[in-house]
Amino acid sequence: MRRVFAIVLAAGIALAAAPLQAQDLGPHVRKVRDGIFVYAAKPADANVTIIETREGVVLIDTGQTPAESRIVSGIVKKLTLHPVRFIIHTEPHGDHTSGNFVFSPPAFVVAHAGAAESMKKANFEARNKQLIAAYPEMREALQGYRLVTPHIEYSQKMTLAVGERTLELIYLKNVHSEADTAIWMPQERILWAAASVGVKRYPNLRPFLTIDDILASIRMMRALNPEVVIAGHGEPGTTQIFDEMERYYMLLLERVGNLARLGKSLDEIKQELRMPEFDDWAAKERFSSNVELAYKAVGGK
Ligand SMILES: [Zn+2]
Repeated sequence: MRRVFAIVLAAGIALAAAPLQAQDLGPHVRKVRDGIFVYAAKPADANVTIIETREGVVLIDTGQTPAESRIVSGIVKKLTLHPVRFIIHTEPHGDHTSGNFVFSPPAFVVAHAGAAESMKKANFEARNKQLIAAYPEMREALQGYRLVTPHIEYSQKMTLAVGERTLELIYLKNVHSEADTAIWMPQERILWAAASVGVKRYPNLRPFLTIDDILASIRMMRALNPEVVIAGHGEPGTTQIFDEMERYYMLLLERVGNLARLGKSLDEIKQELRMPEFDDWAAKERFSSNVELAYKAVGGK
């Protein structure tokens, strides 16, 4: 594995330092495996993964904002002399993709079919303006901004081989956005689950999603038997992330189903339903969208 070594020249003696560790790369960087690092400044931020290979770097997503993408670019430069060759998107939303321009060219962007269309519709320019209004330093990070949509869109499944690494891209249907991708590294046994699951956080369930599809995706990903699971947002973990999410949906379906069978309306269920087991989860404002989808799943009209 190619590494950058800090060479100290003193009195004619060259000392090679140890390979860079996560703590040498700056705050909020976590080493998952040799040459694989995850970055997110805040727990709720979208994760970025940096994967070193002997033929250059693969990034998974580009960070919550372009300012985060600049930080990631700095981390990559500390790690290796190679550029980012590929960016894989777990989803097309701006908190995962709006930093493409920082790396491309030369990086090629890969996503599932539908991603480019979703990005073009999303109006990232408006998002960028809001970011600048909230964080003046964002203006500098956005220098040279362009919308860079995927160069390669795959359908259902794709294998990307870069250097010694193999990444399998797997489409996740109806779990979060119009184009969600799980990424599986079979040798390293690491799985990126996209936003099909959250970590102690209520999911953002849009009306076109289905809980059945989400549960099917969770079962498919668990069957790969990963050692590390990395969600779109939240700390890297294990298949416990799947267990907890599945438990949440099963209880949600059971309770919404019971109330629906008692003849309760959707509005009444939203008022009455309690999920005390998940009181410590963030993003509670999304709960009502969760009840709506569960109501549909149990046959409520
Ligand atoms: Zn999203």
